[in-house]
Amino acid sequence: QAKRQGKSSYAHFTPEMHEQSHERLQMESRLRRALELEEFELHFQPILETATGQLRTVEALLRWNNPVMGMTLPDRFIPLAEETGLIIPIGEWVFEEACRAANRWKLLTGRDIDISVNVSPRQFRDPRFTGSVKAALSRNDLAPERLELEITERLLLDNSIETADILRQLDREGVRLAVDDFGTGYSALSYLKGYPFDTLKIDKSFIHDVTQEQEAGALVRAIINMAHSLGLTITAEGVDDALQAEFLKKEGCDLAQGYFYSVPLPDRDFTEWLKIHYLD
Ligand code: C2E
Ligand code: MG
Ligand code: MG
Ligand code: MG
Repeated sequence: QAKRQGKSSYAHFTPEMHEQSHERLQMESRLRRALELEEFELHFQPILETATGQLRTVEALLRWNNPVMGMTLPDRFIPLAEETGLIIPIGEWVFEEACRAANRWKLLTGRDIDISVNVSPRQFRDPRFTGSVKAALSRNDLAPERLELEITERLLLDNSIETADILRQLDREGVRLAVDDFGTGYSALSYLKGYPFDTLKIDKSFIHDVTQEQEAGALVRAIINMAHSLGLTITAEGVDDALQAEFLKKEGCDLAQGYFYSVPLPDRDFTEWLKIHYLD
């Protein structure tokens, strides 16, 4: 019955659809003004070596503080930012902020702390992308090796020469490259061989059951071993308890991030985290 209803209402513009498109338009106009109103904020989540517990890099995660909608997570607005192209200026803001944060941490701790930034397909395919990454690095006097770009596996699906070219260009610049959410898209590890990636991030859906289900454990073990045989560093995301952390350490997963170690923190709290872990 639901199917029939779905079909018959398809041709009409239902009140619900009207509501939805109105909401969307409203959100779009808010999103257009968000940059100038300084409503964006980066939160930071540490990524640690499983063997030593040492900090390896910090992932920058975007938040949108809108007075009407409150604190909004990226899954709610990145798709719209992509569709409208607003992700281009927003992404540039993210790079600038991330580089500046890395410099503040250096002043505070005396250490070079690496930063990982998420890049969505629309940004990546923008002809100005490589240039704007380079510009942010040089403006902030940051070596390219200090920056890692996280690109979702889905981007590789198009299998285009263009994508491969951009990846190689970024690699030549010295920027590090990571495949994000590995396992949710194409999933063929051998397929990654042709690209200059440094790191593979196993999607959190795989980590969730790793100590509950034998098969999930076996799968993660296999991914770790295959990634290593391809010379890739492997990161587990979404690690939220001690058993998972222990499993990953035992299986030789290089890096891990998740609520078990730290939730993503606002700048001030992350600075406190750094002080506690690196200043005494
Ligand atoms: P992602 O890059 O895979 O980021 C990891 C997500 O997992 C983050 O969600 C993080 O808060 C969450 N997470 C971390 N530890 C745990 C854990 O232990 N358990 C669980 N269940 N979740 C955990 P968040 O911050 O909501 O970001 C969602 C996605 O939005 C990101 O996924 C990334 O793809 C995208 N994103 C975030 N910031 C940016 C950005 O600046 N630019 C672009 N283009 N995309 C971004
Ligand atoms: Mg990421
Ligand atoms: Mg490289
Ligand atoms: Mg991910």
